Amino acid sequence: MSTFITDLAREAVRKLTPYQSARRIGGNGDVWLNANEYPAAIPFQLSGHNLNRYPASQPPALIKSYAQYSAINPNQILASRGADEGIELLIRTFCTPGQDAVLFCPPTYGMVTVCAETFDIESRIAPLTPDWQLDLDLIAKQLPGCKLLYLCSPNNPTGNILKPDDIENLLHQTAGKQLVIVDEAYIEFCPNASLCCWLARFPHLVILRTLSKAFALAGIRCGFTLANPEVIKLLLKVIAPYPLPAPVAEIATQALYAEGISAMQQRVQQLNQTRCWLQQQLQQFKTITVYDSAANWLLFKAPSADQLFQQLAERGIIVRNQSAQPALNNCLRVTIGTPQQCQVLISALTELLPPEETL
Ligand SMILES: *Cc1c(COP(=O)(O)O)cnc(C)c1O
Repeated sequence: MSTFITDLAREAVRKLTPYQSARRIGGNGDVWLNANEYPAAIPFQLSGHNLNRYPASQPPALIKSYAQYSAINPNQILASRGADEGIELLIRTFCTPGQDAVLFCPPTYGMVTVCAETFDIESRIAPLTPDWQLDLDLIAKQLPGCKLLYLCSPNNPTGNILKPDDIENLLHQTAGKQLVIVDEAYIEFCPNASLCCWLARFPHLVILRTLSKAFALAGIRCGFTLANPEVIKLLLKVIAPYPLPAPVAEIATQALYAEGISAMQQRVQQLNQTRCWLQQQLQQFKTITVYDSAANWLLFKAPSADQLFQQLAERGIIVRNQSAQPALNNCLRVTIGTPQQCQVLISALTELLPPEETL
């Protein structure tokens, strides 16, 4: 078979390892705990009117609701196909291929580096410290030549909140030179940790949000970039003309009505309770080390995690193997599902881990 089609592709694309999304990895099971999704579908209404017309690029009702929800101005918000598209737009808007770099701090969410590679942007790393906080010295050394610094808090997959003082320190260091992106995809699980109120102080702070996690709407692909109006204006030049399908905007707007927000807050409360229960249960296994989490998952270290991952999958329980990430050898990440699903997981672990290893 001819390979010239592949040869025609850009070198950066030929070399690319695509983002390993939970869906792409796949698996057969009925207990899906690998993508930090909400475990049940939420109700919505669809009018289905006017589908003959192109939708507004930035539907005003949606932007207004999100502005209210996050207590900022509508001109500080961009809606996109998930927070992932926000990351892509930031790279395409601010980074020149073959010239600029982005900096990120693994172990963390991998979309930034995949996206940077796609566009031939250098990605640099400043690994987190052993307690999973920012290594300020290392970051300072790597910053020259970077346009974007990507941070994630609470950090996926380590689960901890980054120290606000460290982020503030970095915002001072980067003023006039870099944008600092803080990915708050899970902020609903620890709302007090949001840095949204800093947007007024720091024109180069960018916050990413999504409806995919606490709002239980991963299927509609809707996320938000929060930043000062100058940043938003530039991103609007680059975004596709009609990024949000009309039904997506309609469902997203409903989710942000007062009832939608209080339903979300109830889900968060219930998931946080289930997380506490699951953490206690996991702590009963002598060979497991479970880490604290401020979000809707738990990360734990177990001997032979690759094997355990497979054995759970054979029982229909799909979790996420994080072993390939630097510093996360033998770590599995499990999304908080329903209490029943968590019970199924604990029962499976009780069977799989040798009995003398449980307390
Ligand atoms: C899930 C996730 C996203 C992606 O959000 P979408 O809005 O579904 O694209 C972004 N950042 C982090 C840290 C995530 O875990």
